[in-house]
Amino acid sequence: MNSSLHVSDGLKQPIVYSRKDHIISRKQISNAALRVLYGLNDNGYRACLVGGGVRDLLLGRAPKDFDIATDARPEKIREIFKNSRLIGRRFRLAHVRFGRELIEVATFRSSHEISSPDAGISQQGQILRDNVYGTLEEDVWRRDFTINALYYDIRDFSVIDYVGGVGDLRQGVIKLIGKPVVRYREDPVRMLRAIRFAAKLGFNITRSTMSPIPSLIHLLNEISPARLFDETMKLFNAGHALAVYERLFEVGLFTLLYPSTGRIQNSELDYHNKFVRKALLNTDHRILHDKSVNPAFLISVFLWYPMKTIYSAEIHRGKNRKDALRIASEKILREQARVLAIPRRFTQTVRDIWELQARFSNRSPKRAARLLEVPKFRAAYDFLALRAGDDRASLKLVDWWTRFQSADSEERKRLLQEVKHTEMRRKK
Ligand code: ATP
Ligand code: MG
Repeated sequence: MNSSLHVSDGLKQPIVYSRKDHIISRKQISNAALRVLYGLNDNGYRACLVGGGVRDLLLGRAPKDFDIATDARPEKIREIFKNSRLIGRRFRLAHVRFGRELIEVATFRSSHEISSPDAGISQQGQILRDNVYGTLEEDVWRRDFTINALYYDIRDFSVIDYVGGVGDLRQGVIKLIGKPVVRYREDPVRMLRAIRFAAKLGFNITRSTMSPIPSLIHLLNEISPARLFDETMKLFNAGHALAVYERLFEVGLFTLLYPSTGRIQNSELDYHNKFVRKALLNTDHRILHDKSVNPAFLISVFLWYPMKTIYSAEIHRGKNRKDALRIASEKILREQARVLAIPRRFTQTVRDIWELQARFSNRSPKRAARLLEVPKFRAAYDFLALRAGDDRASLKLVDWWTRFQSADSEERKRLLQEVKHTEMRRKK
Protein backbone atom coordinates (compact mmCIF):
# COMPACT_ATOMS: atom_id res chain seq x y z
CA MET A 1 0.00 0.00 0.00
CA ASN A 2 1.26 3.49 -0.80
CA SER A 3 1.10 4.51 2.81
CA SER A 4 3.19 7.62 2.23
CA LEU A 5 0.36 8.98 0.09
CA HIS A 6 -2.72 8.33 2.10
CA VAL A 7 -2.17 7.16 5.63
CA SER A 8 -0.25 10.26 6.65
CA ASP A 9 -3.43 12.33 6.87
CA GLY A 10 -5.49 9.90 8.90
CA LEU A 11 -5.33 8.12 12.19
CA LYS A 12 -3.67 4.74 12.03
CA GLN A 13 -5.69 3.33 14.90
CA PRO A 14 -9.39 3.62 14.31
CA ILE A 15 -11.87 5.13 16.69
CA VAL A 16 -14.47 2.43 17.24
CA TYR A 17 -17.94 3.62 18.23
CA SER A 18 -19.72 0.74 19.88
CA ARG A 19 -23.47 0.21 19.50
CA LYS A 20 -24.32 2.45 22.43
CA ASP A 21 -22.16 5.31 21.12
CA HIS A 22 -23.98 5.92 17.83
CA ILE A 23 -27.56 6.18 16.58
CA ILE A 24 -27.61 3.55 13.82
CA SER A 25 -30.13 0.82 14.48
CA ARG A 26 -30.80 -2.20 12.30
CA LYS A 27 -34.40 -1.06 11.95
CA GLN A 28 -33.20 1.70 9.63
CA ILE A 29 -31.32 -0.68 7.38
CA SER A 30 -33.32 -2.28 4.60
CA ASN A 31 -34.08 -5.99 4.84
CA ALA A 32 -32.24 -6.57 1.61
CA ALA A 33 -29.05 -4.96 2.95
CA LEU A 34 -29.36 -6.89 6.23
CA ARG A 35 -29.75 -10.15 4.35
CA VAL A 36 -26.56 -9.47 2.42
CA LEU A 37 -24.66 -8.46 5.55
CA TYR A 38 -25.77 -11.56 7.46
CA GLY A 39 -25.36 -13.81 4.43
CA LEU A 40 -21.71 -12.83 4.14
CA ASN A 41 -21.15 -13.02 7.86
CA ASP A 42 -22.71 -16.49 8.14
CA ASN A 43 -20.28 -17.66 5.47
CA GLY A 44 -17.34 -16.48 7.54
CA TYR A 45 -16.71 -13.15 5.83
CA ARG A 46 -16.43 -9.70 7.25
CA ALA A 47 -19.34 -7.51 6.14
CA CYS A 48 -19.86 -3.80 6.67
CA LEU A 49 -22.22 -1.14 5.56
CA VAL A 50 -20.16 1.70 4.07
CA GLY A 51 -20.39 4.98 2.24
CA GLY A 52 -23.61 6.94 1.92
CA GLY A 53 -25.60 4.42 3.97
CA VAL A 54 -23.55 4.91 7.12
CA ARG A 55 -23.08 8.63 6.51
CA ASP A 56 -26.77 9.36 6.07
CA LEU A 57 -27.89 7.16 8.97
CA LEU A 58 -25.44 8.90 11.30
CA LEU A 59 -26.97 12.19 10.19
CA GLY A 60 -30.46 10.88 10.87
CA ARG A 61 -31.33 10.89 7.17
CA ALA A 62 -32.80 8.12 5.06
CA PRO A 63 -30.06 6.74 2.78
CA LYS A 64 -30.66 6.65 -0.96
CA ASP A 65 -29.26 3.14 -1.10
CA PHE A 66 -27.02 0.79 0.85
CA ASP A 67 -23.47 -0.07 -0.16
CA ILE A 68 -21.71 -3.00 1.41
CA ALA A 69 -18.01 -3.84 1.66
CA THR A 70 -16.61 -7.25 2.47
CA ASP A 71 -13.45 -9.34 2.38
CA ALA A 72 -15.24 -11.92 0.21
CA ARG A 73 -14.00 -11.91 -3.40
CA PRO A 74 -16.55 -11.12 -6.12
CA GLU A 75 -16.74 -14.76 -7.22
CA LYS A 76 -17.52 -15.82 -3.65
CA ILE A 77 -20.23 -13.19 -3.35
CA ARG A 78 -21.68 -14.52 -6.58
CA GLU A 79 -21.70 -18.05 -5.10
CA ILE A 80 -23.31 -17.03 -1.83
CA PHE A 81 -26.15 -15.06 -3.42
CA LYS A 82 -28.01 -16.76 -6.22
CA ASN A 83 -29.73 -13.44 -6.96
CA SER A 84 -26.46 -11.68 -7.76
CA ARG A 85 -24.35 -10.82 -10.77
CA LEU A 86 -20.91 -9.35 -11.25
CA ILE A 87 -20.54 -6.04 -13.01
CA GLY A 88 -17.95 -3.41 -13.87
CA ARG A 89 -14.49 -3.48 -15.31
CA ARG A 90 -12.89 -0.59 -13.57
CA PHE A 91 -14.42 -1.65 -10.27
CA ARG A 92 -15.50 -5.26 -10.19
CA LEU A 93 -18.61 -5.37 -8.03
CA ALA A 94 -21.48 -7.68 -7.20
CA HIS A 95 -25.06 -6.55 -7.51
CA VAL A 96 -27.45 -8.48 -5.33
CA ARG A 97 -31.08 -8.02 -6.24
CA PHE A 98 -34.12 -8.34 -4.00
CA GLY A 99 -37.20 -7.36 -5.95
CA ARG A 100 -36.70 -3.74 -6.88
CA GLU A 101 -33.89 -3.14 -4.42
CA LEU A 102 -30.33 -3.48 -5.60
CA ILE A 103 -27.49 -3.86 -3.10
CA GLU A 104 -23.99 -3.08 -4.30
CA VAL A 105 -21.31 -5.25 -2.72
CA ALA A 106 -17.64 -4.35 -3.16
CA THR A 107 -14.63 -6.35 -2.05
CA PHE A 108 -12.15 -4.43 0.15
CA ARG A 109 -9.41 -2.95 -1.98
CA SER A 110 -5.99 -1.59 -1.30
CA SER A 111 -4.50 1.53 -2.89
CA HIS A 112 -1.95 1.30 -5.65
CA GLU A 113 1.79 1.41 -5.55
CA ILE A 114 2.47 4.28 -7.93
CA SER A 115 5.89 2.92 -8.88
CA SER A 116 4.60 -0.51 -9.81
CA PRO A 117 4.25 -0.93 -13.59
CA ASP A 118 0.95 -2.73 -13.17
CA ALA A 119 -0.59 -0.11 -10.94
CA GLY A 120 -3.31 0.85 -13.38
CA ILE A 121 -2.49 4.52 -13.06
CA SER A 122 -2.14 6.83 -16.06
CA GLN A 123 0.70 9.29 -16.53
CA GLN A 124 -1.51 12.05 -15.16
CA GLY A 125 -2.01 10.01 -12.01
CA GLN A 126 -5.49 8.83 -12.87
CA ILE A 127 -6.62 5.43 -11.60
CA LEU A 128 -7.62 3.27 -14.54
CA ARG A 129 -8.12 -0.04 -12.77
CA ASP A 130 -8.81 -0.62 -9.13
CA ASN A 131 -8.94 -4.31 -8.48
CA VAL A 132 -6.16 -4.96 -6.01
CA TYR A 133 -7.96 -6.60 -3.12
CA GLY A 134 -7.09 -5.78 0.45
CA THR A 135 -8.36 -5.54 4.01
CA LEU A 136 -10.80 -3.13 5.63
CA GLU A 137 -7.80 -1.23 7.04
CA GLU A 138 -6.55 -0.71 3.49
CA ASP A 139 -9.93 -0.10 1.90
CA VAL A 140 -10.43 3.06 3.98
CA TRP A 141 -7.71 5.02 2.21
CA ARG A 142 -9.01 4.64 -1.30
CA ARG A 143 -12.38 6.16 -0.40
CA ASP A 144 -12.96 9.77 -1.29
CA PHE A 145 -14.15 11.84 1.68
CA THR A 146 -13.76 11.21 5.39
CA ILE A 147 -17.54 11.18 5.88
CA ASN A 148 -17.81 8.45 3.22
CA ALA A 149 -15.21 6.19 4.81
CA LEU A 150 -17.09 4.97 7.87
CA TYR A 151 -17.83 1.26 8.31
CA TYR A 152 -20.78 -0.19 10.20
CA ASP A 153 -19.71 -3.72 11.12
CA ILE A 154 -22.55 -6.23 11.30
CA ARG A 155 -20.48 -8.47 13.64
CA ASP A 156 -20.91 -6.16 16.61
CA PHE A 157 -22.86 -3.15 15.24
CA SER A 158 -19.91 -0.84 15.79
CA VAL A 159 -18.92 2.09 13.59
CA ILE A 160 -15.25 2.06 12.63
CA ASP A 161 -13.58 5.38 11.88
CA TYR A 162 -9.98 5.59 10.68
CA VAL A 163 -10.16 9.08 9.23
CA GLY A 164 -12.04 11.30 11.63
CA GLY A 165 -15.20 10.99 9.57
CA VAL A 166 -17.55 11.09 12.57
CA GLY A 167 -15.97 14.35 13.72
CA ASP A 168 -16.29 15.81 10.24
CA LEU A 169 -19.95 14.77 10.12
CA ARG A 170 -20.50 16.62 13.38
CA GLN A 171 -18.73 19.69 12.05
CA GLY A 172 -20.48 19.49 8.71
CA VAL A 173 -17.42 19.40 6.50
CA ILE A 174 -16.46 17.66 3.27
CA LYS A 175 -12.80 16.70 3.44
CA LEU A 176 -10.82 14.49 1.09
CA ILE A 177 -8.79 11.68 2.60
CA GLY A 178 -5.09 12.17 1.83
CA LYS A 179 -3.52 14.84 -0.35
CA PRO A 180 -6.25 16.61 -2.32
CA VAL A 181 -4.23 17.20 -5.50
CA VAL A 182 -3.20 13.53 -5.62
CA ARG A 183 -6.74 12.35 -4.98
CA TYR A 184 -8.21 14.63 -7.66
CA ARG A 185 -5.59 13.46 -10.15
CA GLU A 186 -6.44 9.84 -9.36
CA ASP A 187 -10.08 10.55 -10.13
CA PRO A 188 -11.12 14.04 -11.22
CA VAL A 189 -14.82 13.17 -10.76
CA ARG A 190 -14.16 13.60 -7.04
CA MET A 191 -14.33 17.37 -7.68
CA LEU A 192 -17.95 16.97 -8.76
CA ARG A 193 -18.65 14.59 -5.90
CA ALA A 194 -17.32 17.13 -3.37
CA ILE A 195 -19.81 19.67 -4.65
CA ARG A 196 -22.64 17.16 -4.80
CA PHE A 197 -22.25 16.12 -1.16
CA ALA A 198 -21.74 19.69 0.02
CA ALA A 199 -24.98 20.74 -1.66
CA LYS A 200 -26.91 17.68 -0.58
CA LEU A 201 -25.91 17.87 3.07
CA GLY A 202 -25.53 21.64 3.34
CA PHE A 203 -21.89 21.09 4.36
CA ASN A 204 -18.82 23.23 3.75
CA ILE A 205 -15.90 21.94 1.74
CA THR A 206 -12.70 22.37 3.77
CA ARG A 207 -10.24 24.86 2.39
CA SER A 208 -7.60 22.27 1.50
CA THR A 209 -10.18 20.18 -0.38
CA MET A 210 -11.66 23.20 -2.14
CA SER A 211 -8.67 25.30 -3.08
CA PRO A 212 -7.03 23.00 -5.69
CA ILE A 213 -10.27 22.59 -7.66
CA PRO A 214 -10.16 25.68 -9.93
CA SER A 215 -6.70 24.79 -11.22
CA LEU A 216 -7.55 21.11 -11.77
CA ILE A 217 -10.87 21.49 -13.56
CA HIS A 218 -9.27 20.66 -16.92
CA LEU A 219 -8.61 17.10 -15.67
CA LEU A 220 -12.29 16.39 -16.15
CA ASN A 221 -11.70 16.54 -19.89
CA GLU A 222 -10.08 13.11 -19.54
CA ILE A 223 -13.24 11.58 -18.14
CA SER A 224 -15.47 9.75 -20.57
CA PRO A 225 -18.62 11.61 -21.63
CA ALA A 226 -20.66 8.60 -20.48
CA ARG A 227 -19.37 8.81 -16.91
CA LEU A 228 -19.73 12.59 -16.85
CA PHE A 229 -23.31 12.29 -18.01
CA ASP A 230 -24.09 9.81 -15.21
CA GLU A 231 -22.52 12.18 -12.74
CA THR A 232 -24.57 15.16 -13.95
CA MET A 233 -27.70 13.04 -13.53
CA LYS A 234 -26.81 12.59 -9.87
CA LEU A 235 -25.94 16.26 -9.53
CA PHE A 236 -29.21 17.67 -10.83
CA ASN A 237 -31.83 15.06 -10.03
CA ALA A 238 -31.44 14.54 -6.32
CA GLY A 239 -33.49 17.42 -4.96
CA HIS A 240 -30.85 20.13 -4.49
CA ALA A 241 -30.11 21.16 -8.04
CA LEU A 242 -30.04 24.89 -7.37
CA ALA A 243 -27.45 24.56 -4.60
CA VAL A 244 -25.37 22.28 -6.82
CA TYR A 245 -25.60 24.73 -9.71
CA GLU A 246 -24.50 27.69 -7.61
CA ARG A 247 -21.49 25.86 -6.24
CA LEU A 248 -20.49 24.42 -9.61
CA PHE A 249 -20.80 27.83 -11.21
CA GLU A 250 -18.71 29.51 -8.55
CA VAL A 251 -15.67 27.34 -9.22
CA GLY A 252 -16.07 27.20 -12.98
CA LEU A 253 -17.23 23.60 -13.13
CA PHE A 254 -20.60 24.34 -14.66
CA THR A 255 -19.06 25.90 -17.74
CA LEU A 256 -16.90 22.82 -18.11
CA LEU A 257 -19.98 20.61 -18.19
CA TYR A 258 -21.99 22.97 -20.41
CA PRO A 259 -19.32 24.87 -22.39
CA SER A 260 -21.75 26.69 -24.67
CA THR A 261 -23.27 28.54 -21.69
CA GLY A 262 -19.96 30.40 -21.49
CA ARG A 263 -20.73 32.08 -24.80
CA ILE A 264 -24.16 33.54 -24.13
CA GLN A 265 -24.37 37.16 -25.24
CA ASN A 266 -24.18 39.72 -22.47
CA SER A 267 -27.59 41.13 -23.33
CA GLU A 268 -29.15 37.70 -22.72
CA LEU A 269 -27.19 36.67 -19.66
CA ASP A 270 -29.67 37.98 -17.12
CA TYR A 271 -32.55 36.23 -18.82
CA HIS A 272 -30.57 33.01 -18.99
CA ASN A 273 -29.63 33.14 -15.32
CA LYS A 274 -33.16 33.80 -14.13
CA PHE A 275 -34.57 31.16 -16.41
CA VAL A 276 -32.08 28.52 -15.25
CA ARG A 277 -32.63 29.32 -11.60
CA LYS A 278 -36.40 29.11 -11.91
CA ALA A 279 -36.08 25.75 -13.63
CA LEU A 280 -33.72 24.39 -10.98
CA LEU A 281 -35.95 25.55 -8.17
CA ASN A 282 -38.89 23.98 -9.91
CA THR A 283 -37.05 20.68 -10.31
CA ASP A 284 -36.11 20.62 -6.63
CA HIS A 285 -39.68 21.40 -5.72
CA ARG A 286 -41.01 18.55 -7.85
CA ILE A 287 -38.58 16.06 -6.34
CA LEU A 288 -39.43 17.24 -2.85
CA HIS A 289 -43.07 16.49 -3.62
CA ASP A 290 -42.32 13.10 -5.20
CA LYS A 291 -43.26 14.26 -8.68
CA SER A 292 -41.44 12.84 -11.66
CA VAL A 293 -38.76 14.84 -13.43
CA ASN A 294 -37.55 14.31 -16.95
CA PRO A 295 -33.78 14.95 -17.01
CA ALA A 296 -34.12 16.25 -20.57
CA PHE A 297 -36.06 19.24 -19.28
CA LEU A 298 -33.11 20.82 -17.46
CA ILE A 299 -30.84 20.10 -20.40
CA SER A 300 -33.26 21.96 -22.66
CA VAL A 301 -33.18 24.86 -20.20
CA PHE A 302 -29.37 25.00 -19.86
CA LEU A 303 -28.92 25.03 -23.62
CA TRP A 304 -31.82 27.26 -24.66
CA TYR A 305 -30.00 30.59 -24.74
CA PRO A 306 -26.83 29.14 -26.30
CA MET A 307 -29.06 27.56 -28.95
CA LYS A 308 -30.87 30.85 -29.50
CA THR A 309 -27.60 32.63 -30.18
CA ILE A 310 -26.91 30.31 -33.09
CA TYR A 311 -30.55 30.47 -34.15
CA SER A 312 -30.43 34.27 -34.40
CA ALA A 313 -27.26 34.10 -36.48
CA GLU A 314 -28.94 31.66 -38.88
CA ILE A 315 -32.00 33.88 -39.21
CA HIS A 316 -29.64 36.77 -39.89
CA ARG A 317 -28.12 34.72 -42.69
CA GLY A 318 -31.52 34.37 -44.28
CA LYS A 319 -32.65 30.94 -43.07
CA ASN A 320 -36.34 30.46 -42.30
CA ARG A 321 -37.30 29.83 -38.69
CA LYS A 322 -37.76 26.12 -39.01
CA ASP A 323 -34.40 25.54 -40.68
CA ALA A 324 -32.65 27.93 -38.31
CA LEU A 325 -34.00 26.02 -35.33
CA ARG A 326 -33.01 22.68 -36.80
CA ILE A 327 -29.47 23.85 -37.57
CA ALA A 328 -29.01 25.52 -34.19
CA SER A 329 -30.33 22.52 -32.23
CA GLU A 330 -28.12 20.19 -34.19
CA LYS A 331 -25.02 22.29 -33.60
CA ILE A 332 -25.53 22.87 -29.93
CA LEU A 333 -26.34 19.23 -29.16
CA ARG A 334 -23.41 17.97 -31.19
CA GLU A 335 -21.07 20.27 -29.31
CA GLN A 336 -22.57 19.18 -25.99
CA ALA A 337 -22.12 15.50 -26.87
CA ARG A 338 -18.35 15.93 -26.77
CA VAL A 339 -18.60 16.53 -23.03
CA LEU A 340 -21.71 14.64 -21.91
CA ALA A 341 -22.99 11.50 -23.58
CA ILE A 342 -26.65 12.45 -23.39
CA PRO A 343 -28.71 9.45 -24.52
CA ARG A 344 -30.64 9.90 -27.72
CA ARG A 345 -34.04 9.69 -26.07
CA PHE A 346 -33.13 12.76 -24.04
CA THR A 347 -31.69 14.80 -26.92
CA GLN A 348 -34.85 14.01 -28.87
CA THR A 349 -36.97 15.37 -26.02
CA VAL A 350 -34.81 18.50 -25.91
CA ARG A 351 -35.43 19.06 -29.63
CA ASP A 352 -39.15 18.41 -29.21
CA ILE A 353 -39.45 20.91 -26.37
CA TRP A 354 -37.68 23.60 -28.40
CA GLU A 355 -39.55 22.89 -31.59
CA LEU A 356 -42.93 22.98 -29.87
CA GLN A 357 -42.30 26.48 -28.48
CA ALA A 358 -43.15 28.06 -31.81
CA ARG A 359 -46.37 26.11 -32.09
CA PHE A 360 -48.05 27.56 -29.01
CA SER A 361 -48.88 30.84 -30.73
CA ASN A 362 -50.89 29.15 -33.47
CA ARG A 363 -54.24 28.60 -31.82
CA SER A 364 -56.55 27.73 -34.68
CA PRO A 365 -59.06 25.12 -33.46
CA LYS A 366 -57.46 22.27 -35.37
CA ARG A 367 -53.86 23.08 -34.44
CA ALA A 368 -54.58 23.79 -30.81
CA ALA A 369 -56.34 20.46 -30.43
CA ARG A 370 -53.55 18.64 -32.22
CA LEU A 371 -50.86 20.24 -30.09
CA LEU A 372 -52.53 18.93 -26.95
CA GLU A 373 -52.06 15.41 -28.25
CA VAL A 374 -48.33 15.69 -28.94
CA PRO A 375 -46.43 13.37 -26.53
CA LYS A 376 -44.10 16.08 -25.26
CA PHE A 377 -46.84 18.69 -24.91
CA ARG A 378 -46.67 18.81 -21.14
CA ALA A 379 -42.88 19.30 -20.99
CA ALA A 380 -43.07 21.94 -23.72
CA TYR A 381 -45.87 23.74 -21.90
CA ASP A 382 -43.89 23.73 -18.65
CA PHE A 383 -40.97 25.18 -20.59
CA LEU A 384 -43.19 27.91 -22.05
CA ALA A 385 -44.51 28.72 -18.59
CA LEU A 386 -40.96 29.08 -17.29
CA ARG A 387 -40.06 31.37 -20.15
CA ALA A 388 -43.04 33.63 -19.57
CA GLY A 389 -42.08 36.99 -18.21
CA ASP A 390 -38.31 36.71 -18.26
CA ASP A 391 -38.02 35.51 -21.79
CA ARG A 392 -40.68 37.79 -23.23
CA ALA A 393 -42.94 34.82 -23.87
CA SER A 394 -46.35 36.19 -23.15
CA LEU A 395 -47.95 35.42 -19.80
CA LYS A 396 -51.31 35.72 -21.52
CA LEU A 397 -50.42 32.92 -23.89
CA VAL A 398 -49.36 30.65 -21.03
CA ASP A 399 -52.51 31.48 -19.17
CA TRP A 400 -54.62 30.60 -22.20
CA TRP A 401 -52.93 27.21 -22.57
CA THR A 402 -53.29 26.53 -18.88
CA ARG A 403 -57.04 26.99 -19.18
CA PHE A 404 -57.33 25.24 -22.53
CA GLN A 405 -55.68 22.05 -21.24
CA SER A 406 -58.05 21.48 -18.37
CA ALA A 407 -61.20 22.81 -20.06
CA ASP A 408 -64.15 20.63 -21.12
CA SER A 409 -65.29 20.74 -24.73
CA GLU A 410 -67.72 23.62 -24.22
CA GLU A 411 -65.12 25.71 -22.49
CA ARG A 412 -62.59 24.86 -25.20
CA LYS A 413 -64.93 26.14 -27.88
CA ARG A 414 -65.32 29.34 -25.93
CA LEU A 415 -61.58 29.77 -25.53
CA LEU A 416 -61.02 29.24 -29.25
CA GLN A 417 -63.70 31.82 -30.03
CA GLU A 418 -61.92 34.22 -27.74
CA VAL A 419 -58.70 33.82 -29.73
CA LYS A 420 -60.56 34.38 -32.99
CA HIS A 421 -62.10 37.61 -31.72
CA THR A 422 -58.81 38.95 -30.39
CA GLU A 423 -57.14 38.21 -33.67
CA MET A 424 -59.89 39.84 -35.69
CA ARG A 425 -59.71 42.90 -33.48
CA ARG A 426 -55.97 43.04 -33.97
CA LYS A 427 -56.30 42.85 -37.75
CA LYS A 428 -58.74 45.76 -37.78
P1 ATP B 1 -25.03 8.49 -2.49
O1 ATP B 1 -25.88 9.01 -1.40
O2 ATP B 1 -25.02 9.36 -3.69
O3 ATP B 1 -25.25 7.03 -2.83
P2 ATP B 1 -22.45 7.53 -1.64
O4 ATP B 1 -21.42 8.16 -0.76
O5 ATP B 1 -23.05 6.25 -1.19
O6 ATP B 1 -23.54 8.63 -1.90
P3 ATP B 1 -21.68 6.12 -4.01
O7 ATP B 1 -21.37 6.66 -5.34
O8 ATP B 1 -22.87 5.25 -3.82
O9 ATP B 1 -21.77 7.37 -3.05
O10 ATP B 1 -20.38 5.36 -3.51
C1 ATP B 1 -20.33 4.60 -2.32
C2 ATP B 1 -19.01 4.83 -1.61
O11 ATP B 1 -17.93 4.40 -2.47
C3 ATP B 1 -18.67 6.27 -1.29
O12 ATP B 1 -19.25 6.68 -0.09
C4 ATP B 1 -17.16 6.24 -1.23
O13 ATP B 1 -16.72 5.70 -0.01
C5 ATP B 1 -16.81 5.27 -2.32
N1 ATP B 1 -16.60 5.97 -3.61
C6 ATP B 1 -17.50 6.13 -4.60
N2 ATP B 1 -16.97 6.80 -5.63
C7 ATP B 1 -15.70 7.08 -5.29
C8 ATP B 1 -14.62 7.73 -5.95
N3 ATP B 1 -14.77 8.26 -7.15
N4 ATP B 1 -13.42 7.79 -5.30
C9 ATP B 1 -13.28 7.24 -4.07
N5 ATP B 1 -14.26 6.62 -3.42
C10 ATP B 1 -15.45 6.52 -4.00
MG1 MG C 1 -24.46 5.01 -2.26
